[in-house]
Amino acid sequence: MTVSINEGFLTQTLVDIVQIDSSNPSLTPNSPGEREAAEYIANLLEKIGLEVEITEPAADRFNVVGVLKGSGGGRSLMLNGHIDTVGVEDMAEPFSGAIRDGKLYGRGSADMKGSLASMLAATKAIVDSGVQLKGDLILTFVADEEYASIGTADIAKRYTADAAIVTEPSHFDIIIAHRGFIWYDIEVLGRAAHGSQFDLGIDANLRMGRLLAELDKLEQELRARPPHPLAGPPSLHAAILNGGTEISTYAAHSRLQLERRTAPGETEEQATAELQAIIDKLSAEDESFKAQISTTLVRHPFEISPDAEIVQLAEKIVTGHLGFKPKRSAMAGWTDAQLLDAAGIDSILLGPIGEGFHAAEEWVDLQSVIDLAAILADITVEFCGT
Ligand SMILES: [Zn+2]
Repeated sequence: MTVSINEGFLTQTLVDIVQIDSSNPSLTPNSPGEREAAEYIANLLEKIGLEVEITEPAADRFNVVGVLKGSGGGRSLMLNGHIDTVGVEDMAEPFSGAIRDGKLYGRGSADMKGSLASMLAATKAIVDSGVQLKGDLILTFVADEEYASIGTADIAKRYTADAAIVTEPSHFDIIIAHRGFIWYDIEVLGRAAHGSQFDLGIDANLRMGRLLAELDKLEQELRARPPHPLAGPPSLHAAILNGGTEISTYAAHSRLQLERRTAPGETEEQATAELQAIIDKLSAEDESFKAQISTTLVRHPFEISPDAEIVQLAEKIVTGHLGFKPKRSAMAGWTDAQLLDAAGIDSILLGPIGEGFHAAEEWVDLQSVIDLAAILADITVEFCGT
């Protein structure tokens, strides 16, 4: 069955949410965060008739969860989208919500307030149609995806479901994989001495150079490995270097902040062991080479089987609405879907068409947001049962 989307409600909701600044204060200090947008969404969910909970995964950061209770005996579906946006620097119209040529403009319009409006309009359409779902529909509007994902991390502890759709803009591709990443801190240790005392000083910066040369080889080797068919090969980059204190002093410390992108199937242990092997080799070649490695953040890769029911169902419904079979693909970056998947919820990403994420001009295609709402409603009705 098909429920009908109230396009006026959807468009107005999207304009309203875009006009609320919800830029992430962990990225842009003193920006407002999720509070006002969360209150707006919670209020709408209550009006539609859902049970609503606002939680604070960290001080002054807000998640909103709305549950449309099923009658029992069906499977539950979670829809997930982030409320926060990146900053608005260099944007001519960050909060206009202006519509021109079928595109709605403003920060977060594509990433991902259009999707939030689709989730709300899909839910309203189901309620207004009088359909009684068997399983629960759980709408999660989360904080902080653009920084450390504290919002979805908290949701994954408190709620579960039989499947989830993270509605990041995917141009209607069904996203079934993406790479993870690991942040490393590598410190090469030298010995400080006056610049004249070559017999006493141990130059941490020059030893870091040896490490960088080895990392350059590893980087080329990683990208020559057989790539994941959708997500591509693993990679690394030497993101930030700091070493030394004064021009006439041997550098006692040289620090590298390294990011390693992991392909689906790779583990943290493997990636760390490859780096440790380089350090061990350099230490064996020269006993004055000393380095310590530590991990500062791990975000695991994500992959769901194309045979999973939520993948198959989403493909069927998207095909029915758009008239072509959607592509299965990988997201370039890491997403909150991995946290839900790791919590045992079969997860995919599926979202609308837009451009200019994190850029000076951002827009979402309005028709695609309407299509997404109809698609989400139909997936929900079929997955949760009636
Ligand atoms: Zn996003």
